Amino acid sequence: MREKGIISPAALEGELQLEATLRPQRLDDFTGQPKLKEILSIAIQAARERGEAMDHVLLHGPPGLGKTTLATIIAQELQVAFDQTSGPILQKKLDLTGILSNIKSYQVFFIDEVHRLMPDVEEMLYSALEDFRVDIVIGAGPGARTHSLPIPKFTAVAATTRQGLVSAPLRGRFGLVLRLNHYDEAEMTRIVRRSASLLNVEVDAAGANEIARRSRGTPRIANRLLRRVRDYAQVRAGRGVDLAVAQGALDLLEVDRFGLDETDQKIMMTVLEKYNGGPVGLNTIAASIDEQADTVEEVYEPYLIQLGFLDRTPRGRVGTERAFEYFKVRRRPGGPIQNSLFG
Ligand code: ADP
Repeated sequence: MREKGIISPAALEGELQLEATLRPQRLDDFTGQPKLKEILSIAIQAARERGEAMDHVLLHGPPGLGKTTLATIIAQELQVAFDQTSGPILQKKLDLTGILSNIKSYQVFFIDEVHRLMPDVEEMLYSALEDFRVDIVIGAGPGARTHSLPIPKFTAVAATTRQGLVSAPLRGRFGLVLRLNHYDEAEMTRIVRRSASLLNVEVDAAGANEIARRSRGTPRIANRLLRRVRDYAQVRAGRGVDLAVAQGALDLLEVDRFGLDETDQKIMMTVLEKYNGGPVGLNTIAASIDEQADTVEEVYEPYLIQLGFLDRTPRGRVGTERAFEYFKVRRRPGGPIQNSLFG
């Protein structure tokens, strides 16, 4: 996952370029997320018809599912300017003042990782979002005065992978709060085929499906794997991407059959092996694998649940029979209480 991997500057550059090439430009090009797309297309059309700024949008969901892409699409569809920043970049109030005082009428202002804003910067954003005003301090010391200047109406699109860390006052200022979910196999296959045609990679239906299945329901991962498979096809196979080529390449890269990464595997082994299938509490899982509870809940669990490996129950997380089979773990006789006494 992007947040974790250590990546060289050259590789990062290549990756960013690839993302830019493959990024859908219009809502119609954007595969999947049908409900979210419908809500957005209504909001976009309504704003255009009324000639007003669209409501602010908060997008949340695991990394690589299309939050940045949607922000750029919203600007394209509204035919307005687009500027972007991110929570960690906006360190000081002055940084935000600079951006806000240059904002253009109705434009889209995208703030990635909005949960990482500094508290005073976040507070300043409140009045910009709600009243379209920015407070500017003139002078210093006892003579300093605050001026509240009006700014043009604009649309903020904020994105976060950690919706639990977005404060209630900030969340409350977004008219639309929309969640992106992992893509299913059919949608992922369409995304792989689309990217392949943009990159001029010949890929048949079975080859595209194999890459799709191993991409963890995440377009960013699919695009990355497609690139690796393309290299393998060219150098080792000397032909287009079919099932055998895709399998050969992905096996060589040790990509799991469902695209599970190391953290996914650790979560499942904790539930299945250590807690004999559960029920086990979220905090216990998080502590065992040294992760934040809300990261486990918001970034990792949704895909494991979608695959049918994990269930959320009132008593805690439970590993399914399908998971025991896939991870080749034998369920020990006896219930979870007995199990916790022994281990
Ligand atoms: P996020 O901001 O959620 O981390 P991005 O918007 O940067 O994710 O998407 C990562 C890559 O995945 C982009 O290059 C984009 O091409 C691709 N992508 C994301 N969602 C879709 C989609 N629904 N259809 C096609 N490609 C997508």
